[in-house]
Amino acid sequence: MYRVTLDREACDGIFACLVRDDRFTERADGLAGIEGEAADGPEPADGTVTVTFDDDRLADAEQAAAACPVDAISVTTEEGES
Ligand code: SF4
Repeated sequence: MYRVTLDREACDGIFACLVRDDRFTERADGLAGIEGEAADGPEPADGTVTVTFDDDRLADAEQAAAACPVDAISVTTEEGES
């Protein structure tokens, strides 16, 4: 189990994340989204969305986080942030 957090206020729409992990999506507003986030829910006040995954794709998420030039993505495992 791990959590992927995306700070859309920091996101600059560069989309380095999409090619590392296809669960990141390009939204109509030109910023990134995460597959599984509440698509039509209200935008969080602080612009930060978090989705929990329970699969074997932690490395993909970590690569996306590492590739983001503005550090808008963070990945947290049970052991802590990675
Ligand atoms: S790589 Fe970072 S800045 Fe670029 S779209 Fe993804 S989250 Fe946003």
